[in-house]
Amino acid sequence: MKKFLSILLCAALAGSCVLAGCGSSGESKPQESTASAASQTQDGKTTADPAEGLTPAASTDKYRNVYQIFTQSFCDSNDDNIGDFQGIISQLDYINDGDPAKGDDLGADALWMTPIMPSDSYHKYNVEDYYNVDKDFGTLEDFDKLVEECHKRGISVILDLVLNHISYKNPLFLDACEEVKQGKLDDKAKYFEFHEPGYYGDDVKTIKVGDYVCEANFSDTMPEWNLGAEETKEEFAKVAKFWLDRGVDGFRLDAIKYFNNKHTDGVAFLKWFVDTCRGIKPDVYLVGEEWSDDAEIVDKYASGIDSLFAFRFAQSSGEIVQSMSMNKGAALIKKFVSYDKKMSEANPEYINAVFLSNHDQVRIANALEGKGVEAEKFAANVYMLVPGNSFTYYGEEIGMTAPATDADKWYRLPMVFDSDNLPKITVDGASGTEAPKFGGVKQQLADENSLLNHYRRLIKVKLSVPAIARGRITGQVSFDDAEVGAYTIEKDSEKLLVIHNFNASAEKTLTITDDMVKNAQVIADFLGSSDAGHLAIKDGKLTMPALSSVVIGSKQ
Ligand code: CA
Ligand code: CA
Ligand code: CA
Repeated sequence: MKKFLSILLCAALAGSCVLAGCGSSGESKPQESTASAASQTQDGKTTADPAEGLTPAASTDKYRNVYQIFTQSFCDSNDDNIGDFQGIISQLDYINDGDPAKGDDLGADALWMTPIMPSDSYHKYNVEDYYNVDKDFGTLEDFDKLVEECHKRGISVILDLVLNHISYKNPLFLDACEEVKQGKLDDKAKYFEFHEPGYYGDDVKTIKVGDYVCEANFSDTMPEWNLGAEETKEEFAKVAKFWLDRGVDGFRLDAIKYFNNKHTDGVAFLKWFVDTCRGIKPDVYLVGEEWSDDAEIVDKYASGIDSLFAFRFAQSSGEIVQSMSMNKGAALIKKFVSYDKKMSEANPEYINAVFLSNHDQVRIANALEGKGVEAEKFAANVYMLVPGNSFTYYGEEIGMTAPATDADKWYRLPMVFDSDNLPKITVDGASGTEAPKFGGVKQQLADENSLLNHYRRLIKVKLSVPAIARGRITGQVSFDDAEVGAYTIEKDSEKLLVIHNFNASAEKTLTITDDMVKNAQVIADFLGSSDAGHLAIKDGKLTMPALSSVVIGSKQ
């Protein structure tokens, strides 16, 4: 009975969420195809949408369009100004309604949630209990419901898992501290990086416990696990099984750069964890945060991990935004080609993980501010058309900006579902979410030319042309124009040509030849405005407007 009541209560709260804080995405009229079926042709441009005949199909493998949410900032179901599981459930139909061919959903088919385990911080990267969820977000029962509702819609669930460090309040660590204070290092202390003072050099941060120190690179409240200890591995195998058995589809592994230390081979540890997870769930998806240069990413790919975030292409200082600023399309593609070559040598099965920003970086709309919605659409084209998995940080698809850039909390403000009904969630004391310049979800769904509808189109095309995500980049295509970036993707016998015009004001007329793609035809175009008509190849020529992208394939 109690259970039944709580389900009723949850349902009521989930319903009120739409009215109270999160706004509604379900009230707007579905915006299906944005094209008219007209066929007026002029200078190789046509108004017929080349993507109109495409049929999106749900993904059943690891290749996904991932949507990242900062768990406490997405949607609050009970007016305590903290986002929660029931809030997320109430908005799942916005992320994906379960029918790839219909609806006004974004279409993303995987969800990465920042940590959900009990913690005294709002971000919860310092875990107090690896076998539970934070009460701010709900109960384990709510979490199970969230997983069930995601799976119903074809959304896989990726949990953020912190294996490098722990909360200093975690009972296992507290017990270890008691022992260490008594000079005992052969029991619980073995789980953590306790050593004699001076064991580490000055470049490694530590905290003092009794006569010993414990490695703590991130914060005094985040001491580090000893990843070289068998005891730790046994514990982590249990943690992985606990969540995978609950239906979780994969993990985003935090801070794996710090898996290496004076006595631990981080790659060997990572390989052990990857193998352990696959032993529990053979099709588990694992993506790691190795925020460093290519050489270290290559090292970590040798572990067999599916994906590592391609940080060099992300954020305002990253190569996508920088290449856009300098119109250097060809140079950027050269970097993507060389990155792909390096990583696929390290792990032939690797799945690239490209993104524009995440919870640790200023929002991408800040980096592109003043360049117009066309620039935000173009940045989306560039990263989402790279083979592999795309990671979209919640709010990126509606152009949310951070109101300040002096602290992480500003990059984590609540999602705006309705700009006439702003959410009240506070983030580490930060509030005052502003309406995005282009409106919230509700407003943008009603606007054919919105950034949100552009993201929806990108995902729809990717779900219709599986080779985009699943193929390999097989080479750069040169048009003797530094402002044009182009590459071929091949998957089995299928060959695609992706072209981006990086110039923000000038169109480009390009010659498409048979050695690029035989019997070339435009499969889909991605333009700054759908009012501009659509692209077609005419007499071997393709004219691309400023900041546009195109996917070309062979005529059947
Ligand atoms: Ca709440
Ligand atoms: Ca749908
Ligand atoms: Ca470490």
